[in-house]
Amino acid sequence: MADPRAPIFEKVALIGLGLIGSSIARGARAYGAATRIVASDASEDVRARVRELGIADETTADLAEAVIGADLVILCVPVGACGEVARVIAPHLAPGAILSDVGSVKGAIVAQVAPHVPASAHFIPAHPIAGTEYSGPDAGFATLFQNRWCILTPQDGFDGEAVGKLSAFWTRLGANVETMSATHHDLVLAVTSHLPHLIAYNIVGTAADLEEVTQSEVIKFSASGFRDFTRIAASDPTMWRDIFLNNKDAVLEMLGRFDEDLTALRRMIRTGDGDGLFALFTRTRAIRRSIIAQGQDTAAPDFGRAAPREE
Ligand code: NAP
Repeated sequence: MADPRAPIFEKVALIGLGLIGSSIARGARAYGAATRIVASDASEDVRARVRELGIADETTADLAEAVIGADLVILCVPVGACGEVARVIAPHLAPGAILSDVGSVKGAIVAQVAPHVPASAHFIPAHPIAGTEYSGPDAGFATLFQNRWCILTPQDGFDGEAVGKLSAFWTRLGANVETMSATHHDLVLAVTSHLPHLIAYNIVGTAADLEEVTQSEVIKFSASGFRDFTRIAASDPTMWRDIFLNNKDAVLEMLGRFDEDLTALRRMIRTGDGDGLFALFTRTRAIRRSIIAQGQDTAAPDFGRAAPREE
């Protein structure tokens, strides 16, 4: 029987060592998922920090050098950068290598990356539903993916063995793996992640632009509801710009549904429909309770602000 602690990959190349890339590096090492980890990042400061932290065996600015001989390559750069990185590394991928990513959007990544991938490599897009509002190599930690979902979106004609190996890698890092189509992923994430971020960016922007209430009053008297929105609205601007530009259709569809429901809520307030408001708030409270019951958040009184969040 195979040793369940044996490394799953020999050489893992991580491109982009921010929150997610550095968490994969830490997790792969902590749980023995890779024999060797090579880190490549466009930023010299990030590469230097990765060396100081000692979370990779090697760092390089040269993308080709990073992926040569790697049996797993994971793109951990912003969604908008994946296509260009794929174009540069594609000719250097080893036969049989698995190319994956962690992008929060899947359809656009497939469209940008797949055309570059040689037939001898296996492209398996992935999205770990785990993150925080922090960025960079210092923000990562080995347990980020524990008990979080990682969604794989293999394309038609995928290689079952390669998908099995990538699933085993994420399982070793503590994640639960689920497979679905890229289109379905983008629709699900539009409502569970992208729309909530849009609402948070919008409400914090609205509060900041008010004329009768000063910014210092907004900060000084921020109630817990507003504070929770500010945490989400502190998420990385590059990452979130790329998500909205690359999941446009699904986000606009969900925004349309949201607008309709908001209009219904406005009517309930205007007409004094207390029963309607009460019924909705009771239904939404049940959803919150199921999320806690399934271990996807904590019921701690600080609303889990210090705990890892899904993105
Ligand atoms: P991050 O902390 O900002 O890290 C991204 C890193 O990639 C940065 O060090 C960046 O360098 C580097 N980079 C950018 N373009 C590059 C290029 N062309 N070549 C090499 N390196 C490049 O971002 P993150 O939060 O880890 O997010 C990375 C990916 O994970 C995104 O696709 C995001 O959608 C996905 N994701 C994020 C979360 C989350 O909660 N943050 C959760 C799940 C998935 P510079 O700083 O110099 O630009």
